[in-house]
Amino acid sequence: MAGRILIVEDEAAIARFVELELRHEGYETDKAVDGRSGLELALAGDYALILLDIMLPELSGLEVLRRLRREKDTPVILLTARDTVMDKVSGLDMGADDYITKPFAIEELLARIRTALRKHPVKSTATQLTLGPISMDTARRQVHCAGKSVELTTREFDVLRLFLENPEIVLSRETFLSKVWGYDYVGETNVVDVYIRYLRSKLDEACGKSLIHTVRGVGYVLRED
Ligand code: CA
Repeated sequence: MAGRILIVEDEAAIARFVELELRHEGYETDKAVDGRSGLELALAGDYALILLDIMLPELSGLEVLRRLRREKDTPVILLTARDTVMDKVSGLDMGADDYITKPFAIEELLARIRTALRKHPVKSTATQLTLGPISMDTARRQVHCAGKSVELTTREFDVLRLFLENPEIVLSRETFLSKVWGYDYVGETNVVDVYIRYLRSKLDEACGKSLIHTVRGVGYVLRED
């Protein structure tokens, strides 16, 4: 099992060529021809590696990378036609693992893929978090409750994830702000209440009961009563 690689490349000939070579090497592949669908696949899928063109329609490769890195550390090799120092530097700054300039020899690309995969061994499959009827697949970013699929936004998902990682523990608004929003927030913390209200209404509907409880003056707890 060599793993699944996502190819995000709008030039059909290059994408096809790379796809055939990768399959020949035993990798499974998916393709996207613009930045937006590439980002969607990258966020939803469980890829061992992503080959990401920089010049893409809809969203640039660098923008795809920037948004991907907020959520995932899937290794990324940038494909660039522009041999400019700026693109490489900003790409690496944004968390790309490597880059290769087009046109490239396929052997060189394969060698760089092997190197990137060696640095990022595929993690264990312990990606399931559960509490009572709720189950979360953190790799696929899917949530089910009582067998029903629950569609969550990115923030709602991250809030629920923090709950599931701390079952039956009362979490303060400040904890959500620093762990989910990623900053030390001074002042109003209503944003947490708003997101928890959204999340709670979606979960209540799917689960058929309430699992998120308000602890007045302290915060919130996820608990099955
Ligand atoms: Ca392109």
